[in-house]
Amino acid sequence: MSSSTETMEKIVALCRRRGFIFGSSEIYGGIGGFWDYGPLGCELKKNIKDCWWNDMVRNPPPGPNGTEYQMVGVDCSIIMNPKVWEASGHVGGFQDPMVACKAEGCRKLFRADQAWLVGFYSRDDFNRLQDHDRELVDRIAPLLKKSDKELSELADDEGLSDDFLLQLNESIFEVKTGMSARLPTITIGVEAGNQVEAMNTAASRLTRHQRDKQLHTLNIRKAYSLAEAPKDWPRRCPVCNATGTLTEPREFNLMFETNIGALQDSTSKAYLRPETAQGIFANFKNVMDSTRVKIPFGIAQIGKAFRNEINPRNYTFRSREFEQMEIEFFCWPDTSMMWYEFWRDVRIKWYESLGIHSDKLRPREQGDDELAHYSDACTDIEYLFPFSEETQELEGVAHRGDFDLSAHGKASKGKENAFAVVNDETKERLVPHVIEPSAGVDRFTLAAITEAYSFDENRASPEFMKFHPRLAPIKAAVFPLVAKDGMPDIAEPIYNEIRKHLPCQYDAKQSIGKRYARMDEAGTPFCFTIDGQSKEDGTVTVRNRDDASQDRIDKSRCLEYLRDKLGL
Ligand SMILES: [Zn+2]
Repeated sequence: MSSSTETMEKIVALCRRRGFIFGSSEIYGGIGGFWDYGPLGCELKKNIKDCWWNDMVRNPPPGPNGTEYQMVGVDCSIIMNPKVWEASGHVGGFQDPMVACKAEGCRKLFRADQAWLVGFYSRDDFNRLQDHDRELVDRIAPLLKKSDKELSELADDEGLSDDFLLQLNESIFEVKTGMSARLPTITIGVEAGNQVEAMNTAASRLTRHQRDKQLHTLNIRKAYSLAEAPKDWPRRCPVCNATGTLTEPREFNLMFETNIGALQDSTSKAYLRPETAQGIFANFKNVMDSTRVKIPFGIAQIGKAFRNEINPRNYTFRSREFEQMEIEFFCWPDTSMMWYEFWRDVRIKWYESLGIHSDKLRPREQGDDELAHYSDACTDIEYLFPFSEETQELEGVAHRGDFDLSAHGKASKGKENAFAVVNDETKERLVPHVIEPSAGVDRFTLAAITEAYSFDENRASPEFMKFHPRLAPIKAAVFPLVAKDGMPDIAEPIYNEIRKHLPCQYDAKQSIGKRYARMDEAGTPFCFTIDGQSKEDGTVTVRNRDDASQDRIDKSRCLEYLRDKLGL
């Protein structure tokens, strides 16, 4: 067993033993992909959400170069009009087999017959084709030496249509069936209504590097729908371009279905939302009309979302019910990259400010070949959990262009620019661009737990949780050394004063060592102990969780000491 697997097992055991996280409905054997937070876990999770709301919505950081912006919140229903999910692309034609993308941040569904794999072949790969049909190869070979420009001139001169070139490609592949060189140099996934559209769309997605360096000027391509694609081709997602993330075609939907009202038929069908973002887009106009926000501004939402994961795993990381903290930030197109970079940096710093200091936090800018087709840029803020060798996404910060507002404009009002806004300065009417920092509450909760988990065999209680003070479920504990000799009389007023302001616990039972150990496992930063000396000189002992060091302070200073040390 690797040391990280062992660590993960210890963390899971501690979370269960101390009431951070339980399996859902455990008394009935549990239910896969669902989790419950216990007394400590729910305080931790609430602290995370409160920090986010406070730091992003109520008191957001200054804008780039001092630019003013506003942040407001919404709290939308979990069940929405099913048309929302048609417009957003989450639901398609159910009668057709669907393919789902399992990649983080994508999770899109496609009709299998409208998702295509287009393979492009380089000169070298083409040369490897054995000439079973030499004549055909001879016919096309001279054309392949020519540049795109020469080809198009030739096509004009000799009336060679695209269809003719396509046919040539087809013919070559017909006779080469079964040859190793059929594996393309580059494969691109696209959504398209037919083969020619698929090929043209895929060609437009080739990067300059792919075109010039990998393919040279060669232009042999072959397109298959996902349902018919050769087994050995890399199955690329038409949206996020990831490989190995697509399911086999089948009737399938990631969304949980339910029925509204007493009758259950196709008209009563509804879905539990798979993300909170769409509630924000659906309310974009309501918020603009009912408040005085002006672009640039952001709308934030925290709430539950549901995805019927095929394979929930990695503890709470991939669950079927989870909570999101999402911002949709609306800005003018010409400043959208500035805002994208702003939010990317703000969000990375936020995790660091809450105690994710280790090099396990690894922001990763997506490459051109990973980006969704509508997206100009995207950064995955990833974290190296002990359950995997690879970093996993905590949050995606995506530049989504005008994709969402245009899609809802078209679907709800019949016009892509239905949600356009007039720019007071330029008088232009534009659909705003969107920057979307989308974070998982449960994922950060798990990251905070694994980051806090500390083991020191030299301590009386080797396991302790080094939570950042803002996240710690309990900020302090008050212990009378023994529950007699007047010590509770001194301890109780201290406890009663602190708990008015900060989460605090009182414990008079068991040995002092066991009480410290319990607080270490809960991640409580400070414990105040009232002992024999307290009665004589009015001082108490303060024990620091992180190094087990002890101070003596006057009993009247406990709350002040806490506030000072915790910065709260
Ligand atoms: Zn995908």
